[in-house]
Amino acid sequence: MAATLIDGKAFAGKVRGQVAEHVARLKEEHGITPGLAVVLVGEDPASQVYVRSKGKQTVEVGMNSYEHKLEADTPEADLLALIDQLNNDPAVNGILVQLPLPKHMNEELVINSIAPEKDVDGFHISNVGLLGTGQKSMVPCTPLGCLMMLRDHHGSLSGMDAVVIGRSNIVGKPMAQLLLGDSCTVTIAHSRTKDLPDVVRRADIVVAAVGRPEMVPGDWIKEGATVIDVGINRIERDGKNVLVGDVDFASAAERAGAITPVPGGVGPMTIACLLANTVTACCRAHNLAEPEGLTA
Ligand code: NAD
Repeated sequence: MAATLIDGKAFAGKVRGQVAEHVARLKEEHGITPGLAVVLVGEDPASQVYVRSKGKQTVEVGMNSYEHKLEADTPEADLLALIDQLNNDPAVNGILVQLPLPKHMNEELVINSIAPEKDVDGFHISNVGLLGTGQKSMVPCTPLGCLMMLRDHHGSLSGMDAVVIGRSNIVGKPMAQLLLGDSCTVTIAHSRTKDLPDVVRRADIVVAAVGRPEMVPGDWIKEGATVIDVGINRIERDGKNVLVGDVDFASAAERAGAITPVPGGVGPMTIACLLANTVTACCRAHNLAEPEGLTA
C-alpha cells in the first residue's frame, strides 16, 4: 500500500477529547452542561444501535444525554409536540431525530420543526440555506467529519479539484458546499454522470458517498489523490459478513496519496462531529466563544 492511511478512529478520539475539554470548561467557568436529546421512533435495529452509541458517547464527554423512545405507531402530532417541548427546554442544546422515520411520518416536516439552532444534524432547511450561502450554520455531521480529516491532512484545500460522488441531501450536497467553501473546484457526480471514471481521474480529492460496495476501482484514482470513502456496505465475503466502502480499498490505496479505510474512517467521525455540533450549539445559545477547529 503506497497511500497514507487517514485514521478516522484515532481522529474521532482526538475530536471527542477536544469536546470533553470544552465541556469541562463550560461547567467550571459558567456552570453549564450541554445537553443532547435523541429521539427514536420505532424499533429499527440499526437505529437502536446508533442511538445507544450516541447516548454513550454523549455521556463520556461529560454532556447530558436525553433519550426519547416512541412506539412505531406514534401519531406524527405527538412527535411534533415532543420536538416543540425540546425546542423550548433550555437544558437541551441539540436535538436529533433518528432517521428513517416510520412511513406515516413526513420527514421534512419533522426535521423542519426542530429549532434551527438546535438542529445538530444540520438538516433543517434554514441550515441548508445558511451553509449554501456561506453563513454560520449547523453543518451535517458526516460531511463535517470528512472536511476535518481533509483539512488535517492537507492544511489548505484552496484550488484543489474535488469530486463528490453522490448527491444526497445528507452527504453529497453538503460535502460539495463545504469543499466549495474551502475554495476547491467542485464537481458533483451521480448516477446519471457521463463517463464517471474520467471525471474521478481528474480529482485531487475524491469523496465517495454512493452506497455501492467497492464501485470505485483503483484505476479511477489519480496518482497521489486523497480518497475519502463515506460508503458503508455490508457484504458477504468468504462466508463472512464484512463492511466495505464505496471504494475498492486495496487497488485505490496503490494509487492514492491518502485514503480512509472502512470501517475506521468516516464512520467514527460522524458521532464525534455530532458531539462537536452540540457543544457549538450550546456556546452559541449562551453567547460564548465556540471551540476552535470543531466547526466548518
Ligand atoms: P443515498 O442513497 O441517499 O445517495 C446515494 C447517491 O449516490 C445518490 O445521489 C445517487 O445519485 C448516487 N449514485 C447511485 N448510484 C450511482 C452510480 N452508479 N454512480 C454514481 N453515483 C451513484 O445515500 P447517502 O445517504 O448519501 O449514503 C451514501 C453512502 O454513505 C451509504 O453507503 C451510506 O451507508 C453511507 N453513509 C455513511 C455515513 C457515515 O457515518 N460514515 C453517514 C451517512 C451515509
